[in-house]
Amino acid sequence: MPSKLPGTDQQFAGFIREDEIHDTLAAGKQASNEAVRRIIAKGRAAGGLSLAETAALLQNGDPVIQQELFDAAREVKLKIYGKRLVLFAPLYVSDYCLNNCLYCGYRRDNIFRRSRLTQEELAEEVRVLESLGHKRLALEAGEHPDACPLDYILDCINTIYSLKFKNGSIRRINVNIAATTVEEYARLKAARIGTYILFQETYHRDTYRRMHPEGPKSDYDWHTTAHHRAMQAGIDDVGFGVLLGLYDYKFELLAMLMHARELEETFGVGPHTISVPRLRPAFGVTLDQFPHLVPDEDFARIVAILRLAVPYTGLILSTRERAAFRDQLLDLGVSQTSAGSCTGVGGYRRENSKAEPEETLDTAPQFSVDDHRSPDQVLQSICQAGYLPSYCTACYRQGRTGDRFMELAKSGKIQDVCQPNAILTFKEYLLDYGSPQTKQAGEEAIGLHLAEIKNGKLRAETAEKLQRIEQGERDLYM
Ligand code: SAM
Ligand code: SF4
Repeated sequence: MPSKLPGTDQQFAGFIREDEIHDTLAAGKQASNEAVRRIIAKGRAAGGLSLAETAALLQNGDPVIQQELFDAAREVKLKIYGKRLVLFAPLYVSDYCLNNCLYCGYRRDNIFRRSRLTQEELAEEVRVLESLGHKRLALEAGEHPDACPLDYILDCINTIYSLKFKNGSIRRINVNIAATTVEEYARLKAARIGTYILFQETYHRDTYRRMHPEGPKSDYDWHTTAHHRAMQAGIDDVGFGVLLGLYDYKFELLAMLMHARELEETFGVGPHTISVPRLRPAFGVTLDQFPHLVPDEDFARIVAILRLAVPYTGLILSTRERAAFRDQLLDLGVSQTSAGSCTGVGGYRRENSKAEPEETLDTAPQFSVDDHRSPDQVLQSICQAGYLPSYCTACYRQGRTGDRFMELAKSGKIQDVCQPNAILTFKEYLLDYGSPQTKQAGEEAIGLHLAEIKNGKLRAETAEKLQRIEQGERDLYM
């Protein structure tokens, strides 16, 4: 197991001040409808919200105001992200785990046949993902320093980046693995990862202790300071998330924003992305064990409020949510979404190659997903909803990460590259992987979104690149 550097967790720990969160929530409850309307107006200007403002928004139950909140979130999303939606897929490489997280199918006490992909099996998974059009992955693993040490994760990253298939390759690997040391984060950085993602699960210390009874993850301070260590190691882009359903979501949201402010103050930049995972059934996990489940309506409000509170932070929605609901949430501020996800080790090969049943009987996914559409079907409905799928990874490949990315995003200049790059990467998808129906919906979408590029020179340049892609060139971006 990697040795913890003495003091690193203690150096930063303690920035989640529970009393302050409870006080802020209590004060926010008193906010009048008028005050909440002023907060929504402030949010609409895309300058972000304070904790106190967020607390007031979270606790206003007026249906008319809720609609105003949704409208404002839609406006901010359009202003900053346009109609673009970035696509990715999770890739599980190992389900060995020392922890006993009560909500997780991979937890130590669950008995099933555990596995870790060989590099050959990994290549096969990536081949399937690539044949579905994916360019961006989130690499996922349980925590087990012996069965799945960092060296193995680094081998996986090298293998994935080295693979080239017909027209495609994976261009960005985000990594969602357990909290570790500054030295190990530095090695992940050297392996050219995209975002380092780690979910806090719950910021509520007592709930955290109950949910994580055993294993290295049971150390709240070690877990909560992981993003600090990643940033100390030079990783620019980090991703947050709370597992919605473990504790009161109002507390969790304020705590997550407190965490974001802490990183901004310490490192000059907050989280690159926030995920909104909601608790799902899993092997040995039924939802009736959890008293804080989040209903759909509150979930939608969470997405909209986050969009106003941290307008420049990407919001990631997963296939934990069902298809029709996912489509509604696009409007409220989601900027990245997974599609066609498997949450088990070797899942993509099994689903796509009809492997022998005895090989699959005793494996388990981490949790069950609720959107079972293929990526192609997801893309079709994204286009039909007026959105533009994007496989762009240009920022990361051009070194526009961390504060450099945030500066560009806040200046609005990023729009000049994002919209053309979304169009170009989606065109590649349609030519190489699109079904006839998606091709039709996609070409219409491209026509529409191309016309929306206001700068004539940029529009012409994009059109010229589209032609080159038609003629067989690939990986063209601004
Ligand atoms: N094992 C590492 C960890 O726990 O930090 C890496 C991440 S794990 C592979 C991915 C995430 O899945 C966890 O952080 C957790 O939030 C989420 N997860 C676990 N069980 C879940 C469930 N039953 N429903 C929804 N999400 C779940
Ligand atoms: Fe292991 Fe992560 Fe699941 Fe916890 S959430 S049991 S650490 S895989």
